[in-house]
Amino acid sequence: MSGIQLESILTEARVFPVHEDFARQANLNSEQYAALCRRAEEDPSGFWGDLARQELAWDKPFTQVLDDSRAPFYRWFADGELNVAANCLDRHLSSPTRNKAALIWEGEDGEVRTFTYGQLHREVSRFANVLKKLGITTGDRVAIYMPMVPEAAVAMLACARLGAIHSVVFGGFSAEALKDRIEDTQAKLLITADGGFRAGRVVHLKQHADQALMRDGHSVDKVVVLRRTGQEVDMLDGRDLWWHELMQDAEPQCPAVSVNAEHPLFVLYTSGSTGKPKGIVHSSGGYLLWSALTMRWVFDIKPEDVYWCTADIGWVTGHTYALYGPLAVGATVLLFEGVPTYPDAGRFWAMIERHGVSVFYTAPTAVRALMKLGEEWPGKYDLSSLRLLGTVGEPINPEAWMWYYRVIGKERCPVVDTWWQTETGGHLIAPLPGVTPLKPGSCTRPLPGIFPDIVDEEGDPVQGTEAGGYLVVKRPWPGMLRTVWGNDARYLETYWAKFQNRYYVAGDSAHRDADGYYWIMGRIDDVLNVSGHRLGTMEIESALVSHPAVAEAAVVGRPHEIKGEAITAFVILRQSHVQDDRDRLTEALRQHVSEAIGPIAKPDDIRFTDNLPKTRSGKIMRRLLRAIARGEEITQDTSTLENEETVRQLGR
Ligand code: ATP
Ligand code: MG
Repeated sequence: MSGIQLESILTEARVFPVHEDFARQANLNSEQYAALCRRAEEDPSGFWGDLARQELAWDKPFTQVLDDSRAPFYRWFADGELNVAANCLDRHLSSPTRNKAALIWEGEDGEVRTFTYGQLHREVSRFANVLKKLGITTGDRVAIYMPMVPEAAVAMLACARLGAIHSVVFGGFSAEALKDRIEDTQAKLLITADGGFRAGRVVHLKQHADQALMRDGHSVDKVVVLRRTGQEVDMLDGRDLWWHELMQDAEPQCPAVSVNAEHPLFVLYTSGSTGKPKGIVHSSGGYLLWSALTMRWVFDIKPEDVYWCTADIGWVTGHTYALYGPLAVGATVLLFEGVPTYPDAGRFWAMIERHGVSVFYTAPTAVRALMKLGEEWPGKYDLSSLRLLGTVGEPINPEAWMWYYRVIGKERCPVVDTWWQTETGGHLIAPLPGVTPLKPGSCTRPLPGIFPDIVDEEGDPVQGTEAGGYLVVKRPWPGMLRTVWGNDARYLETYWAKFQNRYYVAGDSAHRDADGYYWIMGRIDDVLNVSGHRLGTMEIESALVSHPAVAEAAVVGRPHEIKGEAITAFVILRQSHVQDDRDRLTEALRQHVSEAIGPIAKPDDIRFTDNLPKTRSGKIMRRLLRAIARGEEITQDTSTLENEETVRQLGR
């Protein structure tokens, strides 16, 4: 962005008040919320210190809440000690939670396995003993490259039990991506499986792992292999070991190692939407505190909930909201191995009915994909167990939000649109379902203790409600990243340098309306400059999605002699409109955008497609579309790209 601010051109007037029934039973009501906000503002140390003492079990109490002596390398509760796995498991064993389901897992083929807290504790302790035997100690890095099976969760918690630092690499990634991540963290051990199932196909995980370890001089001594598919795999003598053999005589008792609150719990790479992924480092104490608090506040989690976060454990959403957050608060979490459309587009809804899911958290990409296929699918299932819906990962277009609210939530369930990042550890801007009236497409307001702002190029807060700018966070919070693994310079450069360490710079653009609601406008890197107007991608895309023929859209700029940039829109049609005349539709869509948000945003060209290039976590990679729209060859990092074929097709 140059000196000019972004302009917001989309107005969304719909507001959904909090349902009284929901508010009455909510974990946070308006008074409690106001009190938390006030305390956070006036007495941050007391605010965070009290929450950390209430929420977590400490082996050694901390005496200092925040150490900012080396800012922006902040340290939280830095002389306290705890163990994350003990907080997620052991401390529930002395209560009735011991015999409650911690994990309910459903495999792609429909198999169901359930682990109570007591059982999970035993499995984790046994595998921690295995790790110990293999020489893993506190501070060692362990790479985990597994399908979405309960053993992936067991492996992560076993690392945490010993203070080993896990680095989970999504099971859909290539050998190359795995190799890069192993190299970066210098992992000593790799935990993988023979293979995994994905949308009816077999993924060859062990084969990829072998390829990743082909080159001499890598850091991995041993590879533990879980038998999942039963396919033939090569086992290298002296290096490769079967999970089930190692577990056979492993003892179910293993003391949890107390670690410093600042000890890294894990390294996790970002999605790579805007460039080469960054190895984000999270702490033990602060991260777990923020995971637990946001579970209670935003998901309103209750002991009787069946909570389902559809994210794979290979993403931060899977770390915070399919594992650490729910277990820290003693919840029942459903894990799912498969994808939303296998064996058919009713899978998610069938599972909600089957397991009586009450809180459901998924991504806009899934909502749009299912919306595209029509209301018949959810219509076949009983969704009455649901009481709260959530989304994360990308801005949700207001029309997709409406569909989710109406068709899935039956206008009964609040939708929490949660804005956060791998870097933030947990939600930062999100509704409190018993407190916050909802506006479709807005992630609403900051959570207690979080102080975001929107600033211009000089770092000054933007004025007015139509001006957008850089989304920044002005004060540190316990769940924030500590650094980029092995690269403090990249940490400073990416998140702090822009405004001389004054703010955390998220990399997104946003604006704030008259009610103080935040609206994410897109990535800073994707801002369009049309005839001197700076526009975010989100509003134009949402205008397109508000046309009845459109399920999903992505817009990018390409150089234009007169206007600076012309707008190219890539559009996916709803199933019911794929037969429509394309020329007429192109004109209709351009007209529609022009009327919805103004002639300045009218796309210059529209390209219809069945697919968009996405990261494997389901985010549109506009940087690739930009290259395609400009007719350039793609030379960028595509290690996290899901669908290479789409890029090839669009490039033609
Ligand atoms: P990279 O940083 O490597 O480019 P990434 O930013 O996609 O990848 P993640 O940390 O997985 O990696 O995603 C965080 C980003 O996702 C946010 O910066 C934001 O752009 C987007 N996002 C997440 N949740 C929301 C939301 N509720 N509304 C709008 N955008 C969201
Ligand atoms: Mg990012």
